[in-house]
Amino acid sequence: MDRNTKDGVGSLQQKLRHHLTKSTQRVSNVGIKQSNKSLLLKTLLVQGPLSRAQLSLLTQLSKMTITNLVKEYMDEGILFEWGTAPSNGGPKPALLDVMAESLITTSLYIARDHLLVSLIDLRGNILAHSTASLPEDDSGANVMQKIYVLMDNMLAHKTKGRVWGMGISVAGPLDSERGVILNPPNFPQVRNLSIVKPLEERYGLPTYIENDIRVSSLAEMYYGNAKNVSNFVYVGVTSGVGCGIIIDRELFTGFDGNAGEFAHATIDPSGPQCSCGNIGCLEQYSTTSSAIRQYRQETGKDISWLELVSLAKDGDQLCLRIIKNLQKYLGYGLVALANIFDPECIIVGDEIIYVADLVLDGLNEYVNSHKIFRARPINIIKSYFPGSAPFIGTSPLIIEHLLQHKRPRMRILQEN
Ligand SMILES: [Zn+2]
Repeated sequence: MDRNTKDGVGSLQQKLRHHLTKSTQRVSNVGIKQSNKSLLLKTLLVQGPLSRAQLSLLTQLSKMTITNLVKEYMDEGILFEWGTAPSNGGPKPALLDVMAESLITTSLYIARDHLLVSLIDLRGNILAHSTASLPEDDSGANVMQKIYVLMDNMLAHKTKGRVWGMGISVAGPLDSERGVILNPPNFPQVRNLSIVKPLEERYGLPTYIENDIRVSSLAEMYYGNAKNVSNFVYVGVTSGVGCGIIIDRELFTGFDGNAGEFAHATIDPSGPQCSCGNIGCLEQYSTTSSAIRQYRQETGKDISWLELVSLAKDGDQLCLRIIKNLQKYLGYGLVALANIFDPECIIVGDEIIYVADLVLDGLNEYVNSHKIFRARPINIIKSYFPGSAPFIGTSPLIIEHLLQHKRPRMRILQEN
């Protein structure tokens, strides 16, 4: 009995060792160097300029590895020496920085009513962009044709830098592994649309897709208000609401790649049906659409979000009350996020940014007086970007994907 058990454990350990050795070999063969290079690039973008010694300290890569990778990057024209750091007794060490236009990302942002194709450099600058409208009755095939026209034109006029990949940013849910947009609420044009494979085949560029709110959180980490923050949550409020979660400077995507849908929890079992199929989700009370709906219910008139914002800023009492109502429900959601993730800060962005001056004080007060751990206040701040985060973040999206080679996923052994 003991022997059998021991043999069973031995055999399992052997299988596990074999499995891990195979995984490790695969990772080291395929991408460990690329991962190290990406880590170096990310560290410089987020915290640079830095010396080689500082890079070694921050990345935990050896000084020799850093020296070699830096040389490769400098030969490729991606890094350059920029000034010197203070001396520690010896000669002043050179500071390294990133050449912004050396690597360019083709970005595709699919919004509910338009497409936006742009070229983004390593520093998140928009070098060129063009758009096309996206009527609700467009078919998936038509959407792809519009994307091809925009992309063909954009890549025909590309700048002197090198296009190194394509990033797609769109509302979820997505099947990132297969590159398919599944069934985003109120998004009939792109239902079950396989998009990564056809674009990769047409343009020959490594292509990655990610939820637009998570892409925004990357923009904040690399270029925005979270450059010096390790743990934060980005909450995007438009006609929907969701969040991007950054833990230890890495994007948390969840098991299926769809983490962050915190607003699809029922807060009122007798509330309206949500587009997700559930009843009385938080999203039904905390979006620009819910504000517009409330205005219609109280006045019988249709109004756009920007008109509602403008009226509120002119002192219209109804619009101010509607925005305070949105703030109240959003606050409930932010307390939940604060309790679950204990972030250093929460960044609110997208269309809520237009009323940041009306809601931020209230959100800070509410969240910090209602979260469980109150010794350290959490700052609720507004996004650095006036609406551009969902496509600017596609440049770091490529770096994040290249980095993933570093950490093979631990998988469960299947006995058969
Ligand atoms: Zn819902």
